[in-house]
Amino acid sequence: MNVLVLNCGSSSIKYQLLDMSDNPEVKAKGIVERIGLPMGILSHKNYRDEKYETETPVPNHTVGIKLVMEALLDKNHGVINSVDEIKAVGHRVAHGGEYFTESARLDADAIAKIESICDLAPLHNPAHLLGMRAILDVLPNVPQTAVFDTSFHQTMPPSSYMYPLPYKMYEQYKLRRYGFHGTSHKFVAEKACDILNWNIEEKKIITCHLGNGASITAIKYGKSVDTSMGFTPVEGLMMGTRTGDLDLGALLFIMEKEKLSVSEANSFINKKCGSNGFSELSSDMRDLEAASNEGNERAKLTLDMYAHRVKKYIGAYAAVMNGVDLIIMTGGIGENSCHTRKLVFNDMDYLGIKFNFEKNEGLRAKDELITYEDSKAKVMTITTNEELVIAMDTKRIVFGS
Ligand code: AMP
Repeated sequence: MNVLVLNCGSSSIKYQLLDMSDNPEVKAKGIVERIGLPMGILSHKNYRDEKYETETPVPNHTVGIKLVMEALLDKNHGVINSVDEIKAVGHRVAHGGEYFTESARLDADAIAKIESICDLAPLHNPAHLLGMRAILDVLPNVPQTAVFDTSFHQTMPPSSYMYPLPYKMYEQYKLRRYGFHGTSHKFVAEKACDILNWNIEEKKIITCHLGNGASITAIKYGKSVDTSMGFTPVEGLMMGTRTGDLDLGALLFIMEKEKLSVSEANSFINKKCGSNGFSELSSDMRDLEAASNEGNERAKLTLDMYAHRVKKYIGAYAAVMNGVDLIIMTGGIGENSCHTRKLVFNDMDYLGIKFNFEKNEGLRAKDELITYEDSKAKVMTITTNEELVIAMDTKRIVFGS
């Protein structure tokens, strides 16, 4: 049974077609880019590793989806014979506001709710809606679902999610902390508990999703009780190009000195800061590690700052939950950067962690424990797969299994 997973941006459509029978497999994936520009481009790859690229104008998302269908149906690089083989479409949706505590089937009511909270994710939700409507145009009879980055965190208590702002800001604008990456945090925590044969409802887990965007979540007895991203994905950890936590006064100071408008300031904190802005070198952890190894002091400090902030949040969340049984490292950096893990878990024995530094070296893209057997709290790398979660949720919602 094939499920099409879509992540639609304002000028792009990322897609994966997954066969969701007993052993899920990716049949094809790709991206349509430069939608709305004079020339668009589709890059496609199938499970046989055959690649295909085409340049053609893609004026809107409906044309983009038609292009994806052509690629999936092509007799050379395609993977299906008829669109009827696509049984459901699952959309990654950035923001579900307070409406969605879990993934949902997309009916008129759900679409209206997603539309009503576009204010909360002005760059993302309108683009997702374009994708949903394009599917209605091209595959009108195929059921669609939405899987939200925010919904897993809807279990946070008000003491975690409220900001100390005048209360009417919450009432008027729904201004509060929402958190993101929920699909990944939930998936890796459940996967780790499966592997360890643990009941998630009895455990205190801290999940560190460290990719280009990064967030940490405290999961107590299976529920998110706090997370580092807030109203927007800028709060929390230092990231590839985002500041993470910053004194609000510092931002006002920069805006005044550099004469930045609100939209320039928004672009500054999202795109010009973080590892990239500070190092003036790269947002990519691999580049920074290579530069640091060659003696670049700024790169070294960037790596130290990055790890320091991860460590700080782990300490905070252990405090929030009155302990921790398991810390999970996931995302491109969490899964692969031995150096970051080494810095984070150095001197963390106060939490009952006996970190195996030897095993940590060279450990990449695996689901593995990296603590000694007698470690009271465990540390584990778990590979995340957000597309798979979207496809699994979609299958469950549409077909009930
Ligand atoms: P993601 O957004 O989850 O794809 O993660 C991207 C980040 O993971 C980038 O900063 C990469 O540099 C980092 N990353 C991927 N592979 C490695 C690796 N082998 N060592 C260190 N960092 C890595």
